[in-house]
Amino acid sequence: MLNFYLGNIAESNHIFVIIFFLLIKLIMSIYAYTDSKKRNMQSIIWMLLVLLIPNYIGLIIYLVVRQNDDYLNCPNCGFKVKRSFKVCPNCNQPLTKICPSCKKIVKDDWNVCPYCTEILKKNNEKE
Ligand SMILES: [Zn+2]
Ligand SMILES: [Zn+2]
Repeated sequence: MLNFYLGNIAESNHIFVIIFFLLIKLIMSIYAYTDSKKRNMQSIIWMLLVLLIPNYIGLIIYLVVRQNDDYLNCPNCGFKVKRSFKVCPNCNQPLTKICPSCKKIVKDDWNVCPYCTEILKKNNEKE
């Protein structure tokens, strides 16, 4: 009778541990999803990789690949530049958009500068 009772406790603890690790995995995959979305990566694929590959290998792969993503190619000459660079060291192409009025860094898809309300004309309208 006592053995049966103890066995029951061990079993419920086991289920708790499984739920706990599933929860960690879920949080990690949500993190991979939101983080990769910010970096314009294939967020749904990364979320699934982190969720489905066992032993957190998916997350490790994501973190390694993500570091490489801190580099991008210059849109003008293709030179490998860091994301934090403001101009291309090879051809002096501006890599960040700057408001012509207040000289603050603005995002590429913004139409209006939120700092000084200047209308931002898109420089690279090739498409
Ligand atoms: Zn360049
Ligand atoms: Zn401005």
